[in-house]
Amino acid sequence: MPYKDSEKARESARKSYRKNSKKILEKHKQYREAHHDEIRKQQEEYREKNRDMINTKNKERRATPEYKEYVKEYSKRYRKLPEAKKKLSVNQRKWRETHPEYNRERLSKWQKENPEKVRKISHDRRAKIANCEGTYTIEEINELFAWQRGDCYYCGEFLYIDYPYHIDHVIPISRGGPNSIENIVLACPHCNISKNDRTAAEFLEPHCD
Ligand SMILES: [Zn+2]
Repeated sequence: MPYKDSEKARESARKSYRKNSKKILEKHKQYREAHHDEIRKQQEEYREKNRDMINTKNKERRATPEYKEYVKEYSKRYRKLPEAKKKLSVNQRKWRETHPEYNRERLSKWQKENPEKVRKISHDRRAKIANCEGTYTIEEINELFAWQRGDCYYCGEFLYIDYPYHIDHVIPISRGGPNSIENIVLACPHCNISKNDRTAAEFLEPHCD
């Protein structure tokens, strides 16, 4: 039977390919390099002639769930590559520059939805500028909030979780305190600002004058 034969032939071709795949690939590579311009021209001609067919096929392929899954996986992997990171950040910057309104809206929406992240980012930034050691997590801040029963560490005023309460360094960074959870308390803005660069003990100490 012809089917059987051709199936057999295919199987033996597959076997020999597997055995010699490295050699074959190397040969193909050499050929492609030697005939680069020619191949390119042929490809362009082919695409030009079959544009509609190619477009339809591509469209069909892109609509399949397998393809969508593939793209998702691929872009996930791609984004992790260092070259990709560079390229993406350049593209993102370009995009941001041409769409200022969109970004402002999105940013302020995100900030409203993530007050604790906003707080941590600006706090971390200050700590980084001050070049001090240590870090903490949002979970730790939430635990601290619960431990303080939601009150300002200094005056006892109630802190709202969505309201801009301040993350305060017991020993200020400017005086060598670390940016880690052991050195952090939550304070109302008023206390945090009036404490300034004093330690917690100095701030709480009754004034003698
Ligand atoms: Zn307070």
